[in-house]
Amino acid sequence: MTTSITLQDCQARDAADPLAPLRAHFALPADTIYLDGNSLGVAPRAAAERVAQVVKQEWGNDLIRSWNSASWFDLPQRLGDQLAPLIGAGPGEVVCTDSTSINLYKVLSAALNMAREDSPARRRIVSERSNFPTDLYIAEGLCRERGLELVLIEPEEIPAALTADVAVLMLTHVNYRTGAMHDMAAVTAAAHAAGILTVWDLAHSAGAVPVDLNGAGADFSIGCGYKYLNGGPGAPAFVWVHPRHADRFWQPLSGWWGHAAPFQFTPDYQPAPGITRYLCGTQPIISLSALQCGLDVFTAAQALGGMQALRQKSLALTDLFIELVEARCAGHGLGLATPREHAQRGSQVCLTRDIGAYAIVQALIARNVIGDFRKGDGGAGRHKDILRFGFTPLYVGFADVWNAVEHLRQVLDTAEWQRPEFNQQHAVT
Ligand SMILES: *Cc1c(COP(=O)(O)O)cnc(C)c1O
Repeated sequence: MTTSITLQDCQARDAADPLAPLRAHFALPADTIYLDGNSLGVAPRAAAERVAQVVKQEWGNDLIRSWNSASWFDLPQRLGDQLAPLIGAGPGEVVCTDSTSINLYKVLSAALNMAREDSPARRRIVSERSNFPTDLYIAEGLCRERGLELVLIEPEEIPAALTADVAVLMLTHVNYRTGAMHDMAAVTAAAHAAGILTVWDLAHSAGAVPVDLNGAGADFSIGCGYKYLNGGPGAPAFVWVHPRHADRFWQPLSGWWGHAAPFQFTPDYQPAPGITRYLCGTQPIISLSALQCGLDVFTAAQALGGMQALRQKSLALTDLFIELVEARCAGHGLGLATPREHAQRGSQVCLTRDIGAYAIVQALIARNVIGDFRKGDGGAGRHKDILRFGFTPLYVGFADVWNAVEHLRQVLDTAEWQRPEFNQQHAVT
């Protein structure tokens, strides 16, 4: 395969890109091509100052008064409202709080309670075998606790798996290993037709692709604050529950921040109406403040076309990457794990290679081209080792794509990746 695209073409596309000014919102080192925003987003420039203000002024000087004077108290709801348009949720339907894993525990528990109250014979959770492990582990834990069964399938097996004994279908919208995206509306409709509730993990979707939870009629959703939302390492995650369900069940971590009147200090628990009951305890205000800076960039992006414009650029970037890799790195044993069809692709491209995937990623990182490696199943099944590249249209440009592929070509052509220093495994890949 050949390509006629040049570096100059890519630079011209950057010059004409209406979203290019958004990059100035980020403290991205000039010499770095960052293709790992799907794992840890880049720091918004405003974050350092905002966090310093919270520490010095709001905490340092104003102390406990800041719960009221700096509106700390309702920050999870306010950030939820700011995030809501990105995922097709309405005001008052989302809170930013806790981690993705913890929020999944809450919504999966509530969904199981609802499904089994209506129909006790439903004793299965269905999910994808290649779902992100923490999702599977949380489901496994709940199944152990309640004597239920977790059934793991491949994506093409979903229709056949929606049987009368299933309570909940728990899926991640965009797969973390392959970047493959489910049709949320169609899958939700199929689940509902079989009387099954849906839990959608938006870890690789929120801020990456347009999502319409209400339009799809989804039941429960959770997602991550530190990936495409750029909220900082370990940023608070989010949780959404469809308003038709929100008041029906307690979530299991019924702490005082989810109480209808926390400062009445009553000995009994009365859940707050709506999504607020999905809060547990006192919130991490410094971390929430950093997350707000990430969300502010999406608010700024609204004026430039919002998620639809970001999606168009994301697809253009991933199309370009695929075309350049196939033309310029041909003959090096690279495969494509990510769907070519736009409707089935998230905002990342995953390449496969039988050997050396880890070392190739390490060699790229040494050249300041930062992607990551995700381990396959060692030939036991259908998942090969993966070189994973995330494309965040907020701060990645077309020339970045060209230059990243040129580095990859050099690493492969010169066998640079075979050097011993690139073949030592680190704890975090
Ligand atoms: C990143 C990710 C998580 C992360 O969960 P944490 O609780 O933040 O560690 C969970 N699920 C999916 C699908 C992810 O991609």
